[in-house]
Amino acid sequence: MTTTTEWVEDHFVAGHLALDFANTVYRRWPEPGPELLVETADLAGWLALIGLVPDSEPGVDEAALEDARALRALLWRVFDAHIDDRSIPASALAGLLGTARRPTDDLTLHADGSTTAQTVQGSLAIVALRAIALLLDPPPQGVRACDRCGWFFIDSSRGRRRRWCSMKTCGNQAKAARFRSTHA
Ligand SMILES: [Zn+2]
Repeated sequence: MTTTTEWVEDHFVAGHLALDFANTVYRRWPEPGPELLVETADLAGWLALIGLVPDSEPGVDEAALEDARALRALLWRVFDAHIDDRSIPASALAGLLGTARRPTDDLTLHADGSTTAQTVQGSLAIVALRAIALLLDPPPQGVRACDRCGWFFIDSSRGRRRRWCSMKTCGNQAKAARFRSTHA
């Protein structure tokens, strides 16, 4: 099994599982790409890292990878609408609900709100459920998107003035670009 993407801490800066999942492309703006969920192993690695799939059963096939990318596309539609202060598109919401209800006995919701997935479909259902929960009860400051790359995040900084997915990446690049434009 080959892995194209090496997942690191900087891929998990959104502050929410569903938003981290939505951020599995290198950038969303100005045009989407490059893909980070290239191989089935990339999805298996992502899920394993956040503890959504038991190690004993990685089980990601091409169909599951396609389902994951389709779920991500739904997440972009619903959270872009949220950011633009529009109602969530009914078809995208229906897609999330469909993803959430697909598995039967491969998803366990525990009394404390935690979840266990036995299969990849169960894992994707959990991502969809987390997204729905976030849409129903968004943080007061809302979900935002990075000025530079479009990655989603929840701004929990004290001044609520976070503009970048990460200061280490987009923040520094934006500063460097501003420096160049004022010192050219
Ligand atoms: Zn960014």
